[in-house]
Amino acid sequence: MRRIIIAIDGYVATGKSTTARGVAARLNYLHIDSGAMYRALAWYLLESGIRTPDEAAIQKVLVEFAIHLEREGQEMVVYLGDRRLEKELRQPEVASFASVISAIAAVREKMVAEQQRLGKGGGIVMDGRDIGTVVFPHAELKVFMVADLEARARRRYEELRQRGYEVSLQAVKAEIAERDHRDETRLISPLRRAPDAKILDTTYLTIPQQIDQVVAWAEACIFAPQTS
Ligand code: C5P
Repeated sequence: MRRIIIAIDGYVATGKSTTARGVAARLNYLHIDSGAMYRALAWYLLESGIRTPDEAAIQKVLVEFAIHLEREGQEMVVYLGDRRLEKELRQPEVASFASVISAIAAVREKMVAEQQRLGKGGGIVMDGRDIGTVVFPHAELKVFMVADLEARARRRYEELRQRGYEVSLQAVKAEIAERDHRDETRLISPLRRAPDAKILDTTYLTIPQQIDQVVAWAEACIFAPQTS
């Protein structure tokens, strides 16, 4: 059976990673959360005392930045050296700084090269911002996820509160809007829907419904007669 590449892009808190993880589980594919790679660099920079997008300093760090992903079940988990990064990457300040540094060309080059290496054999679901446009422009299935800002802010707010962060709905909404704006307006690989991406509006969908929809599209692709 064909093992395709599924590229899922879209706005913050539309459910990209959760959907991608669920789709990978259903199809027995590997899930790669590309955002976690940008977050890992952001976390490392913050730990090293670099809090501004100082390109010269970041270029230096990139040389020694030993990110690698290891397979755990159907997930690719981010490691820096032998440190497994997970909770660290979920901090709001890490997300916010990831969106700032992801506008730097050298950062994107390093991440994109690694993402292409990881996904080249197919059988993967990768989510991010530029997967269908830059990382895998020939992906067999591209999905672009959108949802109303209100619904997204509420989801992210509840998720952060559950994790124990004292945040307000207003602040979460502002942070999401700011990150989306930065992703859409950066010069290199801005967040865009690939012309051949299917739009998935998750405002009124549950996670199982989102997964069902993407799996249905994927199966249509996998079982489509091959024209060569
Ligand atoms: O998807 P996630 O929210 O974890 O991504 C964190 C940040 O990393 C995003 O706000 C975005 O700026 C950046 N990112 C990116 N390209 C990707 C994935 C994430 O620029 N493929």
